[in-house]
Amino acid sequence: MDNLIQYAYVVAAALFIFGLKQLGSAATARRGNMISSSGMLLAIVAALLDQGILDYQMIVIGMVVGGAIGAYVARTVEMTAMPEMVAMFNGFGGMASLLVGMAAIAPGADAFTLTTIVLSILIGGMTFTGSLVAYGKLSERISSAAVMFAKQQMVNGLIVAGIVLSGVMFVNNPDATFWLFLVVVLSLAFGIMAVIPIGGADMPVVISLLNSYSGLAACAAGFAVDNNILIVAGSLVGASGIILTQIMCKAMNRSLSNVLFSGFGSGVQDTTEVEGEIKPISVEDAYYVLEAASSVAIVPGYGMAVAQAQHVVKELTELMEQNGAEVNFGIHPVAGRMPGHMNVLLAEADVPYDQLLEMDDINPRMETVDVAIVIGANDVVNPAARENEGSPIYGMPVINVDTARTVFVLKRSMASGFAGIENPLFYKENTRMLFGDAKESIGGLIREFS
Ligand code: NDP
Repeated sequence: MDNLIQYAYVVAAALFIFGLKQLGSAATARRGNMISSSGMLLAIVAALLDQGILDYQMIVIGMVVGGAIGAYVARTVEMTAMPEMVAMFNGFGGMASLLVGMAAIAPGADAFTLTTIVLSILIGGMTFTGSLVAYGKLSERISSAAVMFAKQQMVNGLIVAGIVLSGVMFVNNPDATFWLFLVVVLSLAFGIMAVIPIGGADMPVVISLLNSYSGLAACAAGFAVDNNILIVAGSLVGASGIILTQIMCKAMNRSLSNVLFSGFGSGVQDTTEVEGEIKPISVEDAYYVLEAASSVAIVPGYGMAVAQAQHVVKELTELMEQNGAEVNFGIHPVAGRMPGHMNVLLAEADVPYDQLLEMDDINPRMETVDVAIVIGANDVVNPAARENEGSPIYGMPVINVDTARTVFVLKRSMASGFAGIENPLFYKENTRMLFGDAKESIGGLIREFS
């Protein structure tokens, strides 16, 4: 039986890896998801048959309660609150690993097992509270500004030293559970301390990093309870999360250590000065310009998600193409509020994947574009990142819509974006502001076209 279970784990691991590979392209992503999910089903069934687990009653209660809460939350969540939900899921993953670590304490455990228990509690605990802070910042329940105070690094250093000391004391003397509880408390505190100094604009990195941590915590818990599939699944999440973190850092032109330790945006006052004036445009006038355009670049951002405008965007794209224009989408890696946010929305509206160009591909051709339509994007098209050394986002690569012949910006007001800073794009000579809800404005353009 034991052999059979181990074989099932190997098959499940292969399904995870194969599924992950298929997630790499939009065309195969759904299938990849199905394949990985079946791997997970197999892994769960095998784990339930695995010896150590005897109390099915508790498992069923846990599944019913957890499943009901998960289903309710997933069904009722607003699309725009998805990133917060992902943050919470990461956090609960961390908490689960912490609890598994605690439950794995057994008399006579060797030093290796005890060390993995400490690790699963440490990483799980900091993932839990770190994710709660990220949730608070994303949902704007707490200020998204970086929280910095005097001697912060020293306090953090003391917490880390405390964790190491308590961990070592516990491993050497497992009966003294006091030390383990100290690890729990300090890890929870460390999660909070690690995320509060990271400003709102760096949240994409934090989300993917916490995702990676939740995997590492699960991996440590896998060692603690000696479960191979948990080790494999945890490593896969940990590794893919860290790759995503690297991609996000690159997209923001920052190093990981800089994100984690410098309190982005905290010290830098936005010194961007805007020149020129706002030039609003009506739907009718915008239509005349678009009607004459032969190349159009659409740059979506968080506001497209708020307005749920992806379907009308697709409709407008088709009308412009029928009119003879070449239409492409420019996707910034941190547009929206979660990694891949724009890709998910546009895929939902059946926009062909090859029409979505990454920032590095669309920027070189922006100068030849007749009209760039910015739909609810703000920070990711802010030229201050290129032009003004005093801007908190200086150095972050942006989509250079301002170099297109004409720019339409669709938003409701002059309000700033997530980073809370001025955007000189709105005042440029070639920019026209099409004020209003993005879905309504695009609906108006569609009516004009048809
Ligand atoms: P921004 O948050 O910079 O701007 C969004 C804009 O959308 C706002 O200026 C808002 O203006 C407009 N908007 C909101 N609702 C509507 C609506 N119904 N119709 C039309 N416009 C609307 O978004 P970007 O995508 O440009 O940038 C993403 C930001 O989020 C970056 O700073 C990034 O670092 C951060 N971030 C990204 C994460 C990720 O993983 N991608 C995670 C966490 C944060 P108005 O109110 O005037 O309409």
